[in-house]
Amino acid sequence: MATDIQNILEDTFGFTTFRDNQAEIIEHVLNGNDALVIMPTGGGKSLCYQLPALHLNGLTVVVSPLIALMDDQVSALQQLNISAGALHSNATEQEARSIYSDIRSRTLDLLYVSPERLLSESFLNFLTNQEVSLFAIDEAHCVSVWGNDFRPEYVKLSAIKKHFPDAPVLALTATADHATRADILHQLDLDDGRTFLSSFERANITSHAKPGQKRIDQIVQFISNSTNKDKPGIVYCLSRRSTEKVAADLVARGFDAEFYHAGVNAEDRRRIQTDFQNDNIQIICATIAFGMGIDKPNIAWVIHYNLPKNIEGYYQEIGRSGRDGNPAETLLFYSWRDFLQLQSFIDDSESEEHFKQLQTAKLQRMWQFATAMNCRTNLVLNYFGEYRADDCKHCDNCITPPAIIDGTVHTQMALSALVRTQEQVGLNTLIGILRGSNQADIRHHNYHEIKTFGAGKETSFEHWQHYIHQLLNLGLIRVDFTDSSRLKLTPLSEAVLTGKSKVKLAKFVSEEEQKKTQAKRIKITEENVNDDLLDSLKVWRKELAKEQGVPAFVIFNDKTLLQVASTLPKNDGELLAVDGIGPVKLEKYGSAVLKIVKKHS
Ligand code: ADP
Repeated sequence: MATDIQNILEDTFGFTTFRDNQAEIIEHVLNGNDALVIMPTGGGKSLCYQLPALHLNGLTVVVSPLIALMDDQVSALQQLNISAGALHSNATEQEARSIYSDIRSRTLDLLYVSPERLLSESFLNFLTNQEVSLFAIDEAHCVSVWGNDFRPEYVKLSAIKKHFPDAPVLALTATADHATRADILHQLDLDDGRTFLSSFERANITSHAKPGQKRIDQIVQFISNSTNKDKPGIVYCLSRRSTEKVAADLVARGFDAEFYHAGVNAEDRRRIQTDFQNDNIQIICATIAFGMGIDKPNIAWVIHYNLPKNIEGYYQEIGRSGRDGNPAETLLFYSWRDFLQLQSFIDDSESEEHFKQLQTAKLQRMWQFATAMNCRTNLVLNYFGEYRADDCKHCDNCITPPAIIDGTVHTQMALSALVRTQEQVGLNTLIGILRGSNQADIRHHNYHEIKTFGAGKETSFEHWQHYIHQLLNLGLIRVDFTDSSRLKLTPLSEAVLTGKSKVKLAKFVSEEEQKKTQAKRIKITEENVNDDLLDSLKVWRKELAKEQGVPAFVIFNDKTLLQVASTLPKNDGELLAVDGIGPVKLEKYGSAVLKIVKKHS
């Protein structure tokens, strides 16, 4: 890498080394080539166009779908003394005029713009007469109907290549399976562009998934037991109503939580988002409307109150945690009811049949992920086309591998009940029959008279649920979505029923047992941190952020403060060795930070 590029990395951004593919991507773009960059959320995509923007003579135009995201990026860049602006529907006349004038005088390095604005005739006319050196298209999966967030206005972005044939185009996304990847290149007219695929592993995120019983109790326990218990977090819910209910329940349990969904008025949404960004609210309970605009590095945990629609969405949402590189934790709740509800949304939608099939297949993979008994990270990596043999060691199944039991008898009981009910029951009724429950629907159909009624009463509802989920994944039972989601036998069932083959199942671990193992887990905390110093640095940062009207993390992120509070730098040289402090921030804040450190040393 040329020394001037390395110098920009150190002097402007305050980083010492490039991550993953960053250096290669930057070189590729600086050589005038198009590319598609696929990196997980928090992987460091922005640097891939922000750094070239400073090296190139002309303007770098960044297309972004969300106003909040643009404004945050612009604030962060301005903190680094980089000339950047954003044009979108919220920009005032005066702001727009000043940006136009900076572009004309060639003093603007980076322009963030919405796709609608970029493609408006007047703006395109203006821009074609300026020197544009690079286009970056953020959240590029929005261009593809195969992705999970299709936006029609993104499709028109193929016009960029027509109007600016000489400017390289860098498309970036955190979510793209094989089909979406090819489609992005095609839709944007970048067929010769190279694809850079980074590992999707986020090693600082520990992921958990659990059946969704007594979810509020489980959430309270999860947050309280976490080393991140005072840090910001998000609870994602499927419905607006549940965001409100979960927030109210958490407030009643003494937490600082608010809800956010598309039905909240725009002003409140803005306030909640700003308060969360500025660390004035700890927990947001939100629908996925609280989505792409979140670029907050210190989110330390994410909970999915309901099963997400697909792995892409899930992984992007959990990827919002731990962007600062600190340990983060995630918890996913799953239930058969959520699964069926999502399936019925697909079935009832107006979409074309092939699209429904695709959505169904994605939902099934999501369900397999939730109920998986082996490394969850590898399941996601496989999904994104990355294969490896080693387990991740940072998901619940790797940390506490499930014990395997002989589940043949349990399986036989379940299959036999299905045979005796002529395959006319769903999951809950099946469990009711096995447990000898007095439910009305069981009486109504005389299921209480069949031989298997009550045969599994020693096994709790939760145990049965856990086993039947596994039988679905093992292909020993299937769901017939064309017949009210009733459970059916499969070609594999008979061998088990007749005793010809055995079934291994993962043992169900009760809450009590889980608590014990959790307590044993080694706490992942930074050693040697001077906590008083860290607190003082945070107070100082908060005041400064308030004064400047920017989110605290654009001054310094948590990881930078943590490093300062553990390395106790004594001079400018030592401060520069801290990740996130380069010459610009050193000049702005160096003496204030050294003063605070000195007071505590
Ligand atoms: P993405 O857009 O891929 O989600 P970002 O570009 O926001 O991720 O980067 C995530 C975090 O990683 C940011 O806090 C950023 O400052 C940091 N980061 C990016 N590149 C580097 C690097 N080379 N060294 C250290 N930190 C980096």
